[in-house]
Amino acid sequence: MNIASKLLDIKSKLPLSVTLVAVSKTHPESVVLEAYQAGHRIFGENRVPELCTKAANLPNDIEWHFIGHLQTNKVKAIAPFIHTIQSVDSLHLLKEINKEAKKCNRVINCLLEMYVAEEETKYGLSIEEATELLNSPEYASMQNISITGIMGMATYTCDEDQIRNEFKQLHNYFIEIKGKWFSSNESFKELSMGMSGDYNLAIEQGSTMVRIGSSIFGFRTYN
Ligand SMILES: *Cc1c(COP(=O)(O)O)cnc(C)c1O
Repeated sequence: MNIASKLLDIKSKLPLSVTLVAVSKTHPESVVLEAYQAGHRIFGENRVPELCTKAANLPNDIEWHFIGHLQTNKVKAIAPFIHTIQSVDSLHLLKEINKEAKKCNRVINCLLEMYVAEEETKYGLSIEEATELLNSPEYASMQNISITGIMGMATYTCDEDQIRNEFKQLHNYFIEIKGKWFSSNESFKELSMGMSGDYNLAIEQGSTMVRIGSSIFGFRTYN
């Protein structure tokens, strides 16, 4: 199957309430354009230089999501155009995003990345750290970011029960954070979880946004 058919096939099987972020990292612009021409507009990238090049060369109605670990000194480069930064894992980073968004006179959507996996290598906030961030006076004063939900990744394992439990935990965090800080805020609505290998489990556990790369674009040669 070509990229357009794979994309449309996956899309047709997702519930209407679930948003698909097509993860195009490492793949050339030509394949992003193929997906674009099949009607897709939301793409995810995890490296700043690669994202900036693609954003400059591809149609400007693409909604770009940043999904990788983001260093504060790289925020400036994506602030003019990024739609959502899904990987906010510190107050320090959020402050920088707010500062750079302000310079561009924009509001940037942000998801708090929550840590649930057992792998030490994964990034993200614990519920205690998220609580501290959301209770901080610095966060309260930010006007150029909007926290639109949370993002998380399950452990890379074949143990479906473990994956299911980690997604359940993310869903619980989503409910808790929504209830405590965003109960009257309609924009806080995304629970971004699920990748090529586990998105059906994620949807079963309440995902509103899946990030799918290899099932659409094929294997990556790095990362
Ligand atoms: C690469 C990546 C994905 C997509 O992974 P696939 O297994 O190729 O679908 C999703 N989320 C994040 C954060 C990623 O880095």
